[in-house]
Amino acid sequence: MPGVRLTLIAREVETPYSGMLPGFVAGHYGFHDIHIDAGRLTRRAGGRMFHDEAVGIDVAGKRVLCRGRPPVPYDVLSLDIGSRPNTGVPGAAAHAIPVKPIDGFLARFEALRTRVAAGASRHVLLVGGGAGGVELLLAVQRRLGGGGHMRFTLISGAAAILPGFPDAFRARFRAVLEARRIALRCGARVTAVDDGGVILAGGERIDADEVLWTTEAAPAAWLAETGLLLDAAGFLRVDARLRAVGHDDVFAAGDMVAFEPGGVARSGVYAVRAGPVLAANIRARLAGRAPRRWKPQRRALYIVSTGDRHAIATRNGLVAEGGWVWRLKDRIDRRFMARFNDLPPMPASVPARTRNAA
Ligand SMILES: Cc1cc2nc3c(=O)[nH]c(=O)nc-3n(C[C@H](O)[C@H](O)[C@H](O)COP(=O)(O)OP(=O)(O)OC[C@H]3O[C@@H](n4cnc5c(N)ncnc54)[C@H](O)[C@@H]3O)c2cc1C
Repeated sequence: MPGVRLTLIAREVETPYSGMLPGFVAGHYGFHDIHIDAGRLTRRAGGRMFHDEAVGIDVAGKRVLCRGRPPVPYDVLSLDIGSRPNTGVPGAAAHAIPVKPIDGFLARFEALRTRVAAGASRHVLLVGGGAGGVELLLAVQRRLGGGGHMRFTLISGAAAILPGFPDAFRARFRAVLEARRIALRCGARVTAVDDGGVILAGGERIDADEVLWTTEAAPAAWLAETGLLLDAAGFLRVDARLRAVGHDDVFAAGDMVAFEPGGVARSGVYAVRAGPVLAANIRARLAGRAPRRWKPQRRALYIVSTGDRHAIATRNGLVAEGGWVWRLKDRIDRRFMARFNDLPPMPASVPARTRNAA
């Protein structure tokens, strides 16, 4: 928009796409397949990028506080910082490997692979029985090798894996885990983690060399200090127009929000679908027009891969699986990434003759 300066503050220049993370871990994709170059994308949008981390917001002074630079003033703010697994269990932050932030996970997974290759780690345990956890552990097993010397365990605090998904979908994943000899413990709440494994409610100890952590999403702790209105779990409350409740100049979407009109699942599908309405409403705010409501779709297609080039999908209670489902997911994911990475060349900003002369 003429007269508007756009600034992106982001922790990473190369931004990972979680939908393809299990495929990267399994060895199907390379680093660039699963990362968006946010710097190039921002320049392309005529904006500037600050490679930094927001650590607070001065709402009254309209400034974002950063870890490594002076506060950044704003007229309109869009907060889209996602979530991380909840590592509030004693010892989890120190001893477990959380799946997010993903850049941290990738570095620690490389170190884990080195330990496995050296024979120092034989039992990998993952805590969290949601779609992300199940998919990630199957990918980890595929990469590390499910041979006789390695053991894998999935621990779910809920009574069954994949809560919220249709029974037929969950049954297929139970069968996959069994066929791959991944031990499954459901209804088991981890109450502590140390360097030798985990302790469950009730006192049982499970020894493990590596503990991966993909429990339910938790919001950034510093949001509590901003004065913005949060729900009981600490997620930012937003109205139907994706505005922070009570603040018409602060917008937010994705995993970090508590969507007031009826809630919405914390999944990438909904984060992405909110994008166009978020952008339209930010523009409307700058132009003095009325923002519009976001009406999240009620159903979504979920495709969860099984480590090899095979996946299981569900939508509307129906379930399908096969190599063709994985290829469909691969096509959808690659097309999504191409929208941000395969950018047409920038138009020349100086006449060609001047450039040649230079
Ligand atoms: C293994 C795994 C697989 C998944 N697969 C799927 C899937 O197939 N389909 C699906 O729908 N969902 C999937 N999800 C869920 C999905 O990851 C999230 O719902 C989605 O990423 C939410 O998008 P977001 O934009 O809100 O947050 P994110 O994608 O987490 O993006 C937030 C960004 O903000 C940056 N950031 C965070 N804090 C700060 C800060 N303070 N300052 C600056 N930058 C910051 C982060 O580094 C990150 O780049 C998966 C999750 C996992 C763990």
